[in-house]
Formats: sequence, structure tokens, C-alpha cells
Amino acid sequence: MKYVKHGKCVRCGRTYPAAPDLTTCECGGILDIVYDYDAIRADLTKEILAARPERSMWRYRELLPIEDSTAPTPLRVGWSPLYEEPRLAEMLGLKRLWVKDDGQNPTASLKDRASAMAVAKAREAGAKVIACSSTGNAASSLAGNAAAAGLATYIFVPSRAPKGKVAQLMTFGATVISVQGSYEETFELSKQAIDKWGWYNRNAAINPYLSEGKKTVALEIMEQLEWNVPDYIAISVGDGCTIAGLWKGLKDLYAIGFIDRLPRLISAQAAGCCPLNRAIETGEDWRPMEENTLADSIAVGVPRNADKALLAIRESHGLTVNVSDEEIMDAQKLLGRTCGVFGEPAGVTGTAGVRKLCEQGVIGRDDTVVSVVTGNGLKDVANAIKACGEPISIPSDMDRLLEAFAERRITPD
Ligand SMILES: *Cc1c(COP(=O)(O)O)cnc(C)c1O
Ligand SMILES: [Zn+2]
Repeated sequence: MKYVKHGKCVRCGRTYPAAPDLTTCECGGILDIVYDYDAIRADLTKEILAARPERSMWRYRELLPIEDSTAPTPLRVGWSPLYEEPRLAEMLGLKRLWVKDDGQNPTASLKDRASAMAVAKAREAGAKVIACSSTGNAASSLAGNAAAAGLATYIFVPSRAPKGKVAQLMTFGATVISVQGSYEETFELSKQAIDKWGWYNRNAAINPYLSEGKKTVALEIMEQLEWNVPDYIAISVGDGCTIAGLWKGLKDLYAIGFIDRLPRLISAQAAGCCPLNRAIETGEDWRPMEENTLADSIAVGVPRNADKALLAIRESHGLTVNVSDEEIMDAQKLLGRTCGVFGEPAGVTGTAGVRKLCEQGVIGRDDTVVSVVTGNGLKDVANAIKACGEPISIPSDMDRLLEAFAERRITPD
């Protein structure tokens, strides 16, 4: 790989050659992929990028840890829309606001970016089987991207995973193990199984290439904003790989001179499960928390990528915000009603955080904000119906329709 130097441990600094099956450091630390930015600068310009027809995460090849000979994975991952939302900005009291709808990825979450990378690297490693444990979206994205590439998957999910995500797994033909326990317990079992059978490992934070896939969300946001840097980018946080990837992408662009400053990150967690934000807020080490939120994708009591996530929030002079399940459900409705964007609970947690920070007066009139919606609401319809209610239910009878409208003070004319 022409532009990759090595993997470097974020804890002890030890470096490793960038083999396709690279995992963690001997010290247990997580690795970061280090690039030769001078070489990238020499070969990649904004003009070259703009002329590229590829509309997927693979348009940023020079900034990705793959071999020249590695073909893009079959499903179209990335290049999701970035909508400017002037009405929502007005309601919240922000100068400008954009929503990046990453629920429009092929398996309907941002995790497709990491899973497509896992599939590309598994192919380089010559692996035939990939495995992971996941709260749900890493699993369904891996199962889908692997199926398209002809690879088999073994997937471990906690039994609480919403039906939509499990349905995806079964449809994509994964061997699915539903673990009767927490995400923490699910992760442990997957780890033992991966060690035993030697499958290619797509576990969050273990495989250092995954956040390189996730960082493409930052590359896209900045290209879609024509390299005009917003003041803040808000995102929901569970294991911490996504926010770490987002930050890595921004730093890459800064290092190659595509942007001239860096935005501040907004780390949004559920109040019932916010070990990383709590660590930032108290200045203490992170400690495990219960997984007490309906936002299943970020119900992560033992975050796997605490080191990188905390570093990202601190380096960016980021803000933390913890939102209740009720605030998450309100944000789901708000995004639906004002933007036509349907996010799953964890998907809209960043927006719930932006709204709360606006109400608290922490951000406001002078600020420009991008809020990333990380997963699609169709994955978890039970919670959406809980948040937004049931429809009017009547027989096919005009009189009953008039009655129903009158009762609800609906005036169609
Ligand atoms: C995984 C996920 C997140 C959080 O990503 P982490 O890397 O676990 O912090 C947020 N939203 C959705 C929809 C997810 O699937
Ligand atoms: Zn180390």
C-alpha cells in the first residue's frame, strides 16, 4: 500500500506492518493506521477528486488502507445525501444546519462503511469467513456486504437486538447466534469463537481498518460542503469507533491541506448509558455503565474504543451531551416531521444532542452544525410507533371518517 506507513498503537506507540489481518497491539492497545501524507498530497488534489465518477466511499482510495489491486466491494456504500435544513435550523436557533442521512446506505446504517472495509481486507487476507459481535448494525452490514462478495458470516448479537436487524441477518444468510445476555457478554463469546476457528475478525476496535472505513463519512461531509468547515459535527456514540473515525477523516483532510481548520465534535450518548461522556465530564477514567436505553445501537456499557474516542473528543475541544430516551424519541419525530428523514433511535441521538445544546444556549445563532443520522428508522419500527403513535383506525365508511376527523379536530378543508 503506497500511502500507508504502518499501524501504530495509540497506547504505547509500537508500530506494526499493515498486514490485512492486523488486530490489536501486544499491550492490548488499539492500533491507528498511519499514512504518508506527503505522498498523498503529491498525488491527490481537490480537482482530481472532483473529476472522479465513483460515487461511493471508494472514491477516496488514496486515503484508504487498501491495495491498488483491491476492487471496490460490490454494494454501493457511502455518498449518502447531506441535506441543508433551514427550517430545522430556524426552529433550533442555529445559523446553518445540515443532516447527513447515513441511513441510506445499502443495509441502512453508517456501519456499512466499516463492514465494506472489513470485506475488502478479508479478501486481501484470503479469508472465506468473517465474524463479529454487534448490537445489530455492524452485524447486518457485515452480513450484507459479505453476502454480496460471496463470503460467509458468523454473527453474534444480544437477544435484545430489534427484529428488523435480525431479519436482515437471516435474509443475508448469516449464521446468527442470538446471545441471551448483554452486548458485553455477546462480545466475549464471539471473541472465544473467533480464537477457536480463526475467522476474519470484524469486531469493533479490534480490527484497525474499520474506523478507516468509517472516516469516509467525514471525507464526504467535507467534500459535499465544498471544503467549508462547519463549527460542529454531532454524532451518537456507543463503542466510540464512529466518532474516532469521523475525527480521523477530518484530521486526514487537514493534514493534506484540503481544509484549513477542524470542527469541534459533539459526542451524544444516551443518559442511561454514557460511560465515555461521563469520563470527559468528570475528568476521570471511564467506568462501565448499565445498558439502559432504547437506543440499542449505542447501548454499550463497556465501550471497546474508549481510548480513541476520548482522544477524538478531547483533541477537537468537543462537547458532550447526554439525552434521555424521551428526548431521543422527540428528535425522531422532529427529524421526520421537518426533514422527512427517518432515523432509528441511536441514529437520531446526535440530533437530540444538538437540540439540547441549543436549548441550553451552549450553541446557537453564530454556529453552523452538521448532524449525522447514523441508522434508518425502519430497523426498529416498534420504537418508532411508540414515539409517534398509532394511525386513525376505522372501517371503510365516510361517516366514520368524518367522526374521526371531528373528534381529533382535523379540518381537511
Ligand atoms: C454503531 C452505531 C453507532 C455508534 O457507533 P460506535 O462506533 O459504536 O460508537 C451510532 N448509531 C448507530 C445507528 C450505530 O449502529
Ligand atoms: Zn501498544
